[in-house]
Amino acid sequence: MADLKFQRNFGIAAHIDAGKTTTTERILRYTGMIHRIGEVHDGAATTDWMEQEKERGITITSAAVSCQWNFPTVLGKQTPDTKKYSFNIIDTPGHVDFTVEVERSMRVLDGLIALFSAVDGVEPQSETVWRQANRYNVPRIGFVNKMDRSGADFLNVVKQVREMLGSKAVPLQLPIGAEDDFKGVVDLIKMKGIIWHMETEGMTFDEIDIPADMLEEAKEWRAQLVEAVAEYDDNLMEKFFDNPDSITEEEIHEAVRKATIDLSIVPMMCGSSFKNKGVQTALDAVCRYLPSPVDVEAIKGTDPDTGEELTRKPDAKEPFAALAFKIMTDPFVGRLAFFRCYSGHLDAGSYVLNVRSGKKERISRIMKMFANKQNPVEFIEAGDIGAAVGFKEIKTGDTLCDENHPITLENMFIPEPVISLA
Ligand code: GDP
Repeated sequence: MADLKFQRNFGIAAHIDAGKTTTTERILRYTGMIHRIGEVHDGAATTDWMEQEKERGITITSAAVSCQWNFPTVLGKQTPDTKKYSFNIIDTPGHVDFTVEVERSMRVLDGLIALFSAVDGVEPQSETVWRQANRYNVPRIGFVNKMDRSGADFLNVVKQVREMLGSKAVPLQLPIGAEDDFKGVVDLIKMKGIIWHMETEGMTFDEIDIPADMLEEAKEWRAQLVEAVAEYDDNLMEKFFDNPDSITEEEIHEAVRKATIDLSIVPMMCGSSFKNKGVQTALDAVCRYLPSPVDVEAIKGTDPDTGEELTRKPDAKEPFAALAFKIMTDPFVGRLAFFRCYSGHLDAGSYVLNVRSGKKERISRIMKMFANKQNPVEFIEAGDIGAAVGFKEIKTGDTLCDENHPITLENMFIPEPVISLA
């Protein structure tokens, strides 16, 4: 059984053009599951499956891509403590026409990277996604992208998240240099500067002392950060008042994690995915602060016969229960039903009950989608995401379960799609 503590199901939410495709491609490149990646303008983006997407340059599908990430590392290098984290990145469409698709993806992810453009800040679609994430209690970390662009302003975006989105955005970093000269960040937890090496595409970096002219500002922001999370750890609170210098990095990370999962803060980071800066740090933050499937509440549903409330824990030993969140046609394998397995274990070749249709169907194959290949897997367990082949009749939102333990997972609230008149 996989240790669910090392699993992350997350999405990247952004207003169109903020850099979601570029960031996703960087992530897939760093996580090493892809051999060669086309730049966005080649039209070769891995998540862009449909012709229409290529034509319109937007990602409208809501699929999931799997990859792995080593964490923690020291200066980009593995240590004896390094673990392999399994990521499922669930695509959350960035165009306002596809609000309904965003709604569906929110249901199956445990956390979000909210991506903003450092120049444009909070935009209309960021607000829409934010509201949906609030509705589903999705913890999020903020990544302010495009720090290399002229007019980039990290702290202004932090302010906008507070004022326009009503969330307590808390910087974990301060940018070093701006625009063309953007070269690193001050890490407010470690109280060190990080300077990325361009020649290795940001995978390695140097640690430096905080530049003297930034030290006072860094101290102020660090105090704000510690204050914002201190209530999540009594020890930290005490040290904050008595002896702030004795606070350890791990104590802050842990308090940031609790506060993020509790939705009381949104930790904010910055970078430039186009220039390969900061994406790895954001992936470390996904491991550190976003919840694993065992950190989120057990899924609730109802007994389809009696209407009685039922709960399924994220445990492979519980009865199988899953939600189909995206049906798509793949040129190679045909119709694929992406599903999140909330509990239990599903073997390829076995039968599941579709509660809505009342039919038992055989799953001939289960696939995991990687950036450059689709791998058949023998089974999928609680907390994971897969794509099933073999359904004769399936719709988005269907519950799939063990026929001896039927359950209807909470119905999603899906608003009418917004019709664009443009
Ligand atoms: P999406 O619509 O959110 O998926 O955005 P894309 O990833 O397609 O990026 C939109 C445009 O912004 C493309 O031309 C990218 O090359 C560019 N872009 C993305 N990230 C950055 C960045 O960090 N810096 C700069 N300067 N440009 C970026």
